[in-house]
Amino acid sequence: MKTVVLGAGVIGVTAACELLRDGHEVTVVDRLGEAASETSYANAGLIAPGHAYAWATPRAPGIMLRSLFDDRQAIRFRPRLDPRQWIWAVQFLRNCTAERALANTIGKAGLCKYSQERLGTVVDETGVDYDRLTGGLLYLYRTEESLSASVEKAKILNERGIVVKAVSPAEAVEIDPALEAVQDRFAGALFAPTDESGDARAFTRHLAAHLERRGVAFRYETEVTGLRVNASKAQAVITDKGEIEADQVMVCLGVFSPDLARTIGIRLPIYPVKGYSVTFPIAGRNNPPSCGGVDQDNLIAYARFGNRLRVTSTAEISGYDKSHRPEDFTHMIKTIRALFPEGADYDQPDYWAGLRPMTPKGVPIFGRGRLENVWMNTGHGHMGWTMACGSARIAADLVAGKRPAVALDGMLLQH
Ligand SMILES: Cc1cc2nc3c(=O)[nH]c(=O)nc-3n(C[C@H](O)[C@H](O)[C@H](O)COP(=O)(O)OP(=O)(O)OC[C@H]3O[C@@H](n4cnc5c(N)ncnc54)[C@H](O)[C@@H]3O)c2cc1C
Repeated sequence: MKTVVLGAGVIGVTAACELLRDGHEVTVVDRLGEAASETSYANAGLIAPGHAYAWATPRAPGIMLRSLFDDRQAIRFRPRLDPRQWIWAVQFLRNCTAERALANTIGKAGLCKYSQERLGTVVDETGVDYDRLTGGLLYLYRTEESLSASVEKAKILNERGIVVKAVSPAEAVEIDPALEAVQDRFAGALFAPTDESGDARAFTRHLAAHLERRGVAFRYETEVTGLRVNASKAQAVITDKGEIEADQVMVCLGVFSPDLARTIGIRLPIYPVKGYSVTFPIAGRNNPPSCGGVDQDNLIAYARFGNRLRVTSTAEISGYDKSHRPEDFTHMIKTIRALFPEGADYDQPDYWAGLRPMTPKGVPIFGRGRLENVWMNTGHGHMGWTMACGSARIAADLVAGKRPAVALDGMLLQH
């Protein structure tokens, strides 16, 4: 069966892996020159089932409102003359009830846990190298209030078999000795011993190379412009370099998935949420972090990829603009430098900004619409790296008509 995967981000390439496993003849199409060149390029790298919470919570509307006047909010709403932004914002706000936040977190946690297991399988089978660092992630809290609220919240994950436990500052230092000098700045931490980190771009590119050697065709610098459709099926993918015949099509276009979906009558509730990332070399430095984590009260994530330190922050609902200025990184750099003063060469920043393909619920979208051979695997938001390998298996199972291994409540398209 000829299957065309649209998009060579981490979602498209992992989907290609599972489709190849199932015996498909796979072609992956991307308009950029290499895999993982869009949102999968420089994310925080955290594989974090221990942090699988919905962003739409009862607190979120207040945060978004305050963000109109105060830049320091966790989620920043920047109103645009874009009806898609407003429609998305209303859908997001509708998910901000306690009941929906719980349901969305439960769905997300199940998918993240399953995905991490599938990541292990893919790594064992392919041997791809991506500066993987297992052994847990630390979620650091500066105040007793924020720590105790998080301990309470973590019960939802604990009940679903995800280990997240409270540790004292001294215990956090045992886990990551690089925190020793700053331990008095924290009330404590949550430690998720099975969470991990790794470079999503290296993973995606190495996996793509592995798949190419096994017969998957990658067509880069090829823009998808539509689908050739008969009554109930897509027959070919239309690109700027001609048509590609297809028995099945899987849509993994990240923040651009709604554009393609609209051409076949599907309205995907996906909107970009911008984040910033900066990477520093750590060669020759004395005290880089030995595990990744999140400074929760500053909402700054960090991970160590071999001889590099990646730091990310910010969630801006501000449209498709990916531009960035050095000032956008000032707070991040100040905070990480204070945490790990000797941890990296902070004079050599490599700046980047990317767009998370966010759904209002925070969970991805699977399944198909009216066309029986066009499948969605998109909208992975702030956890696409964590959710990629499980989503790939789920999407391939749906194509095969098999029941996926995890519940997909609220994640399936209606048709
Ligand atoms: C700052 C930041 C930090 C993050 N940190 C984490 C983290 O720690 N852990 C985690 O799990 N997730 C994290 N994420 C989220 C994660 O990076 C994303 O969810 C994931 O990369 C999305 O992958 P994707 O394949 O769906 O999208 P993309 O990587 O954007 O891939 C989509 C591909 O489609 C291609 N494309 C689009 N339109 C067309 C077209 N018309 N024709 C041809 N090709 C097209 C694009 O070129 C692109 O290559 C973070 C994201 C950001 C921005």
